[in-house]
Amino acid sequence: MKKNLTSRRELLKTTAFGGVALAAGAMLTSCSKKEEKAAAPVNTNGTDEPVEKEELPYVDASSNKAKALRYAENGADVPAETRVDKGDTKGADQFCTNCQFYSEGGKCALFPGKLVKEKGWCVSWSLKAQS
Ligand code: SF4
Repeated sequence: MKKNLTSRRELLKTTAFGGVALAAGAMLTSCSKKEEKAAAPVNTNGTDEPVEKEELPYVDASSNKAKALRYAENGADVPAETRVDKGDTKGADQFCTNCQFYSEGGKCALFPGKLVKEKGWCVSWSLKAQS
């Protein structure tokens, strides 16, 4: 009979400890999920949908680097003698969007961390390879 009491006590202790361990595990899991949620980028519309476009500042056309590259937010404003034909592409047809250094969303490899205007242009313009 005494053995039964001992084993019952052990069972209760084990069960109680197991319950506490499960509760602690659930709390930790819950906390880590909250942290993941907090670290993820949030849309401005307040939904959980992933942020698709990075929000970066546009190139300051008056910066030294932009001036050195003769960057203009609107290539059409650049004089024809500066925006010369390259290969088969007329100067008037050269824009950031058809330049090899341009990538989706407005990024330019020559201006890391900044965005360029779609109609922009600079002296480094080079025709993007057609896919
Ligand atoms: S390198 Fe190309 S994409 Fe970048 S600013 Fe010049 S024309 Fe635009």
